[in-house]
Amino acid sequence: MKMSRQRIVAGNWKMNKTYEEGRALVKDIVGQLQPSEILVVLCPPFLHLNSISGQIKDVRSLKLGAQNCHQEGAGAYTGEVSAAMLQSVGVEYVILGHSERREYFGETDELIAKKIDATLKEGLRPIYCCGEKLDVREAGGHLDLVAAQIKTALFHLSAADFEKVVIAYEPVWAIGTGKTATSQQAQEMHVHIRSLIASKYDQQVAGLTSILYGGSCNPSNAKELFSQPDVDGGLIGGASLKAGDFVAIVNSF
Ligand code: PEP
Repeated sequence: MKMSRQRIVAGNWKMNKTYEEGRALVKDIVGQLQPSEILVVLCPPFLHLNSISGQIKDVRSLKLGAQNCHQEGAGAYTGEVSAAMLQSVGVEYVILGHSERREYFGETDELIAKKIDATLKEGLRPIYCCGEKLDVREAGGHLDLVAAQIKTALFHLSAADFEKVVIAYEPVWAIGTGKTATSQQAQEMHVHIRSLIASKYDQQVAGLTSILYGGSCNPSNAKELFSQPDVDGGLIGGASLKAGDFVAIVNSF
């Protein structure tokens, strides 16, 4: 079943790279990336989207993603960016529900559900991030917590809409800490998520959903993580800021 799912490596630059640095990074990635069936999604800050859209327009396996969008279509929301604006510069994916958005900007799964709807309405594909903090894992509550996140943010969707969603399991304790989940921990959670999807929708929808792992993924551990049958790729933070490391991760399948 794994082979029929889209394998994806997405790079979340977070709040890094000036305009020129961003262009240089993309130039290096384009230069090093071999043609393959792996979909590679670059998620720079908003500032970069329009120019990078031009840089990657002829590279079939490279797609553009944003790191957030507003839940409303337009209006008096100073400082915000809508899904339609993203779509208008060639964005195809939007990271939603990242743990940093939850922690520093107070985003809840109720709000994220609205953002999911806003992106789908514009034909964009959400990359929905879920994952537990360390205390929850240590107390054994990680499977239930992730199930609750997914139910609240995603399970109002029709099957047709759900099929456009990519899920990224990102244990919060592994993000930017250098502490990676073991491949067994990732596989266990990905199986859990897939079975939740099967019970809400059906086996076919579950089998076709790409579920990525995120959290200190790097060129040394990506192969082991991606070898797990239910790990369909990665959402990469720190290691997406160096072309060589990022391309090495893409080549780890
Ligand atoms: C992330 O921010 O989505 C992430 C996985 O970060 P890092 O790879 O740096 O842990």
